[in-house]
Amino acid sequence: MKNLSVETLCVQGGYEPKNGEPRIAPLYQSTTYKYDSAEEVGDLFDLAKEGHMYSRISNPTLDIFEKKIAQLEGGIGAVSTSSGQSANLLAILALCKNGDHIIAFNNLYGGTFVLIKSRLKDFGIEATLVDLGDSDEEIQSHIKENTKLIFGETLGNPGVKVFDIERYAELAHRNNIPLILDNTFPTPHLCRPIEFGADIVTHSTTKYLDGHATCVGGIIVDSGKFDWTNGKFNCLTDNDPNYHGLSYTETFKEAAFITKVRAVFLRDLGTTMSPFNAFLTNLGTETLSLRMDKHSSNALTVAEFLESNPNVEWTHYPLLKSSDDYELAKKYLSKGASGIIAFGVKGGVEEGKKFINSLKLATLVVHVGDVRTHVLHPASMTHRQLSKEAQLEGGIEENMIRLSVGIENPDEILADLKQALERSQE
Ligand SMILES: *Cc1c(COP(=O)(O)O)cnc(C)c1O
Repeated sequence: MKNLSVETLCVQGGYEPKNGEPRIAPLYQSTTYKYDSAEEVGDLFDLAKEGHMYSRISNPTLDIFEKKIAQLEGGIGAVSTSSGQSANLLAILALCKNGDHIIAFNNLYGGTFVLIKSRLKDFGIEATLVDLGDSDEEIQSHIKENTKLIFGETLGNPGVKVFDIERYAELAHRNNIPLILDNTFPTPHLCRPIEFGADIVTHSTTKYLDGHATCVGGIIVDSGKFDWTNGKFNCLTDNDPNYHGLSYTETFKEAAFITKVRAVFLRDLGTTMSPFNAFLTNLGTETLSLRMDKHSSNALTVAEFLESNPNVEWTHYPLLKSSDDYELAKKYLSKGASGIIAFGVKGGVEEGKKFINSLKLATLVVHVGDVRTHVLHPASMTHRQLSKEAQLEGGIEENMIRLSVGIENPDEILADLKQALERSQE
């Protein structure tokens, strides 16, 4: 199933049943697997043979889901994880150890921001946060001998700034380091970052891939295109004493990175997705294309409405013609810009609260990217742990509302927003 479209892969990817097998990707709710001989199990432990050993490391249901997402993103392999947080953590840890350094953009999801800025620092991995407004020279000046990667989000959460993938992939590659992109908001239906030069793609599958807000999960996809033998990645080229001295690049070639993510980091840290979550998330992905088209068209309608509403101070949505990111959005998000809008209710925090409390159809939840319309106030919720200064640097203004536009009837979404905006000013 290689050269099929995203629409078809969403439905048919990852699983091709043989004669008489279940048509629906089955749920293998099993921790363990049965073998005919002791030698067989030894080979699995040595990575000399492919196969399932224990469900912390792999499982047939996860395997189906991972194959589908790898196909959708145009990668050579994927590893699913217990959450989006652990997907980003494992992707970074597979390339960085104590004493290493990374470059990350400052407009990231709050959880990722804190992970990179504070938690990784506790483990000896330093990060320099750069801004999408910085010049290439400025970013270049922060790249040092021990810098191992550049990390960004295709569409930032919650500011929805568009990442210029080709520009930063080139910058990364000039320095012999990979670009890791969190592609949670666009999903492969709207943007496939590997086609523009990203080397590793991550997702919080909790959002649109599941789409129904039932499962927390994450996934890491490897493009297989980065040359790990360029001298900077001893972690993948050197012999690993834990696997009888094998070198990941020598043994697994272009799959060195993704194999190490599974065989070392998933095994040792245990942040595994459960088979049931993979089963449900896979079911969600079957309608991904339909949903993303509808989320995107509804969001554009809502963004245009907000932009012209007198009770709204400002509106960010990449495909608004007035957006600073319009040209980038046309290039990277030509099919649609996903369902997330950031906007400021006229006034300040109080008016924002009144707006949220007056909504009837849209609900207040700590979530984005499912079929229902949701709102949230990032400054006091998801990005609460950041200083005011860090919030502003990341584009989070005090009166910002993050609106996740669902797939309900657009007129009914508009009517709800309209009445709540009126109430906000009373
Ligand atoms: C939600 C989110 C995460 C974290 O994912 P969880 O599944 O909640 O752990 C990471 N990146 C982005 C862009 C997100 O929206």
